[in-house]
Amino acid sequence: MKYITVIGAGTMGNGIAHVFAMKGFQVNLMDVSEKALEKALATISKNLDRMVAKGKIAEADKDSTLQNIATFSKLEEAVKNADLVVEAATENTELKLDIFRQMDAAAPAGAVLATNTSSISITRIAAVTNRPEKVIGMHFMNPVPVMKLVEVIRGYATTDAVTAAIMELSRKLDKVPVEVNDYPGFVANRILMPMINEAIYTLYEGVAGVEEIDTVMKLGMAHPMGPLQLADFIGLDVCLAILNVLHDGFGNPKYAPCPLLVNMVTAGRLGVKSGEGFYKYIPGTRDKEVAPNFRK
Ligand code: NAD
Repeated sequence: MKYITVIGAGTMGNGIAHVFAMKGFQVNLMDVSEKALEKALATISKNLDRMVAKGKIAEADKDSTLQNIATFSKLEEAVKNADLVVEAATENTELKLDIFRQMDAAAPAGAVLATNTSSISITRIAAVTNRPEKVIGMHFMNPVPVMKLVEVIRGYATTDAVTAAIMELSRKLDKVPVEVNDYPGFVANRILMPMINEAIYTLYEGVAGVEEIDTVMKLGMAHPMGPLQLADFIGLDVCLAILNVLHDGFGNPKYAPCPLLVNMVTAGRLGVKSGEGFYKYIPGTRDKEVAPNFRK
């Protein structure tokens, strides 16, 4: 595989383009938003500068990485010579099904079609294409250039050969791929989201405060970040959406989202991206304090 197309140039798409381009792949980065494409190139450039400053790569590597990325606003043009397409557009089922129909129609018949979805069924996405055996989940973690894991998710029809090729490709990116099957939440979010939900229930029931819950998990379990801070970082709307996928997919009440989480999302308190969630974030700084609703 040499030609990689990335659909969606947001938080994840720019990181995925970055890691492929840095390893010498030719990357076509596509987004419907010109602004998103400009921002993605600026972010990749800034992140490469940081790597140069840390001595991880040479200045020449930065230039060659940027030269390996071309931007597109039309999907048909972006995928026409692709060996692999990695879709990283907004997490919305109908939108992704539509993008996969278009990718299937415009990409070469032999191309593998991957999705970076956090929670939508790979089997369902594959079913709208004429090549379900070549559809697979390639779930990178945020921030992509830093995080080692790629969760490689086999849909019901994905072949052994396609899975092996994506595992091998992930290793070429210096990532550690882990193969999992396609059930709600896969592995990462199936385990992470109930833990975050339980932390929110612990707060909701008054067992302890925001900082106390996060401190227990950081110092007691050696987690680098407490679950409430992590929920703010991921986005509370994203956490709620994934819990709903688990709840609907398994029909088990243990996955029911905590009413406090539902209230916070309804009120627009989405975490870091809205400036306030369990913590309040001080604009322009990395500082945070417990949000007013949770102060004692
Ligand atoms: P984002 O909102 O930052 O970016 C999404 C991008 O998709 C936007 O730039 C938007 O313009 C673009 N887009 C929307 N419709 C499009 C279309 N029809 N064609 C092309 N581009 C289109 O979102 P994100 O956080 O980068 O998430 C992208 C995917 O990655 C989602 O499926 C998400 O679940 C998954 N994911 C996110 C994270 C995370 O921490 N943010 C982690 C793992 C996986």
